[in-house]
Amino acid sequence: MSEPDQSTTESISAELRIGSENIRFSVEITNEPVHIHDLLPFFQRITDKVIEIGIKEAERQGKCISCKKGCGACCSQLVPVSRAEGYRLLNLIESMPADRQQVIRERFAHNINALKEAGILQMMEQAVNNNDRKQLREVGVNYFKLNLPCPFLEDQSCSIHRDRPLSCREFLVTSDPVHCADTNPETVESLSLPKRISPIIYKMSRDLNEAGRGYLPLIQVLDSAEALSSHQASEPAIDLIKQFLQNLTQA
Ligand code: SF4
Repeated sequence: MSEPDQSTTESISAELRIGSENIRFSVEITNEPVHIHDLLPFFQRITDKVIEIGIKEAERQGKCISCKKGCGACCSQLVPVSRAEGYRLLNLIESMPADRQQVIRERFAHNINALKEAGILQMMEQAVNNNDRKQLREVGVNYFKLNLPCPFLEDQSCSIHRDRPLSCREFLVTSDPVHCADTNPETVESLSLPKRISPIIYKMSRDLNEAGRGYLPLIQVLDSAEALSSHQASEPAIDLIKQFLQNLTQA
């Protein structure tokens, strides 16, 4: 990998072995300190490449992706987002025209109230704080049973498709779509990926912040605005990319 000179913007490039394929990437960076969220477009590109490789592998095994435009059956799930993505989503909402923003904010508030009323909000916070996989799975099933569409879901399509979270990108299924609305997760076969990028970004978000956890449920993004806007540690971009690649090769 070639590194940039001091105080300039340069392109760095590298080749990675992912599954059975090599992928080349390049990214423009400066030596100015940046936040993880500044590098999200790069992480999204790598995620999309990894998914392409996963899809090719599934097709070699005779499987095909059931997900289609206009099917939002999985968009009522508990969606985890890294703190970095939470911050970007917050900015995205705040940049929307006032009337659009109000609609989105009302949907968030509606879902949060429904979770409170069902007694799931507190369980969800506990599960995330403890990073307890078993508890998270249980909460996830109960969350899905409430049938609360994601605030960004419109006409069964993602209204923020280009900016959608990494976990949404990574979740594709190869089983019959008839099972996607089923609350029994055993009936759904998700696409197997050679690497998952989202947990790497959760880890990097956690390591760079003092708040303890690197991810949060998407539905809590607005309620976590203050926490997401504080503790915004930054590092030279090259260091963050090296951390990312190190995590990627170890994952
Ligand atoms: S962000 Fe988009 S893809 Fe993700 S759950 Fe919401 S509507 Fe679905």
